[in-house]
Amino acid sequence: MNFADYKGIWVYIEEKEGSIAPVSLELLGAGRQLADKRGVELAGVLIGHGVKHLDQTLFEYGADTVYVYDAPIFDHYRTEPYMYALLDCCQKYKPEVILYGATPTGKDLASAVATDLPTGLTADTTMLDIEEDTGLLLASRPAFGGNIMATILCKKYRPQMATVRPKVMTALQPQPGRTGKLVEESILLREEDVRTKVLEVVRETTKKVRIDEADIIVAGGKGMGSKEGFQLIHQLAEVLGAAVGASRDVVEAGWIGHQHQVGQTGVTVTPKIYFAIGISGAIQHLVGMQNSGLIIAINKDPNAPIFQACHYGIVGDAFEIVPLLIEHFKQALS
Ligand code: FAD
Repeated sequence: MNFADYKGIWVYIEEKEGSIAPVSLELLGAGRQLADKRGVELAGVLIGHGVKHLDQTLFEYGADTVYVYDAPIFDHYRTEPYMYALLDCCQKYKPEVILYGATPTGKDLASAVATDLPTGLTADTTMLDIEEDTGLLLASRPAFGGNIMATILCKKYRPQMATVRPKVMTALQPQPGRTGKLVEESILLREEDVRTKVLEVVRETTKKVRIDEADIIVAGGKGMGSKEGFQLIHQLAEVLGAAVGASRDVVEAGWIGHQHQVGQTGVTVTPKIYFAIGISGAIQHLVGMQNSGLIIAINKDPNAPIFQACHYGIVGDAFEIVPLLIEHFKQALS
């Protein structure tokens, strides 16, 4: 493998129903810095159906080039067609780095591409840098329960790939009118060659905010006592337009689904405001939320470890404090 043949930083652009996933724009911001440091191009790879017109947005957010695969076979995300398109693009244009959002789609696609190429993949990265001279990507992520940051290198293969957690990188301010090069590509792939079919699309009917995208999260723990007691968490979240988070013990008790679990074996979140209510603050929980902008803890035990990790702490009974907060925020926001 001749490393000199591999040039440029790429971002896989995730699109759903005509919208670009925020994490893809964040990655263009991070990718721009890497590309500038290396003195190479930043490209977005956009795959979908009826998506070509999104190129302008990508240029405005920092891409120099957009490779687009726009065809009916890419109508809904499926591993095989998207993987073949990306492999085709890699074989033709040989990037040195590809970044993906650490979303269900990004993780699925990145691992399929990594296996087929083959190359290495660092999952759930939270920091990125690149060595100017060697082009070695420095992809860092928490390890050993969040106690250390591990920097992972891919020394023997190209492209170097990483999935990056949403809301960790910052998108650039868009530059209206900034343009770039659009490269339209296609692959020969028939529908009958694809093993998965989309039979039906079932839309989530709830308007609830997802925890990995939320600016405010109200998270509850075992201290809420029961599924009924946990309703207070939902109520406070609703008043604030926030997402609901939970500790693992709450999820295991069946008070809420696993997609709400914050922590080592759940989701890592970095909202602007994180309420931790009736949560003790076990290390496995802290690693999933400790980078939040502002952490407010409510716990009746003054020695609960969560008070070591929060910016503001209220020692007291959640069943007295949360109803007061709900009332107060209702009035303040009405
Ligand atoms: P508890 O530890 O029982 O704490 C309840 C808290 O509520 C206490 O601090 C108590 O003082 C307070 N309280 C009680 N009543 C009230 C009241 N009326 N008002 C106010 N406060 C009150 N945990 C996670 O959260 N996420 C993970 O991803 C995760 N992954 C794990 C992975 C591994 C391998 C292991 C071993 C554990 C993992 N855990 C995880 C579990 C973790 O170790 C803790 O057991 C868990 O976080 C505790 O949940 P909790 O804080 O809700 O409950």
